[in-house]
Amino acid sequence: MDLTAYIRDVPDFPKPGILFKDIMPLLGAPAAFAFAIERLAGHYPADRIDVLAAAEARGFLFAAPMALALKKPLVPLRKPGKLPGATHSFRYDLEYGSAELHVHTDAIAPGARVLLVDDVLATGGTMAAACKLVEQAGGVVAGCAFLIELSFLNGRTPLAGYEVFSLISY
Ligand code: IMP
Repeated sequence: MDLTAYIRDVPDFPKPGILFKDIMPLLGAPAAFAFAIERLAGHYPADRIDVLAAAEARGFLFAAPMALALKKPLVPLRKPGKLPGATHSFRYDLEYGSAELHVHTDAIAPGARVLLVDDVLATGGTMAAACKLVEQAGGVVAGCAFLIELSFLNGRTPLAGYEVFSLISY
């Protein structure tokens, strides 16, 4: 199945000059969405993963069905002020300003092998921060899985040393 048929190009979003890859058509096509989840989850032998984790918000859309397919726990990495319990946090720089991700201190067991998931790999900043947060929480990054990789943005560079897998590469 050609998954690129379910990714829509949106010029000049969120700002002029950016060609945004919109995954909404994929979410609206259950057979294609199921195929994508099957292929993403199928890349990882279940005995090499203990936990799946994803940063809000669109990462959740892929990590949740993958966690069910692999029969593993799911750990949400959230923006400040969303998690009710004690958290580890990691602050990282964006093009303009900065952002912070949090995870519950009891969410990841020491040494747990964590598969991180997101919809799109662009510059790699978000995923690199997620990796650091998982490590701070005591986990070991087992891999970074993406539906889409924008390879011209070299997002694998900040993820050097981690296993990176994407289903669609532009
Ligand atoms: P990065 O930190 O630059 O790799 O950006 C990745 C984050 O931005 C991911 O969480 C994506 O959801 C979002 N993102 C960046 N570019 C796009 C795009 O073209 N389409 C959809 N999401 C994007």
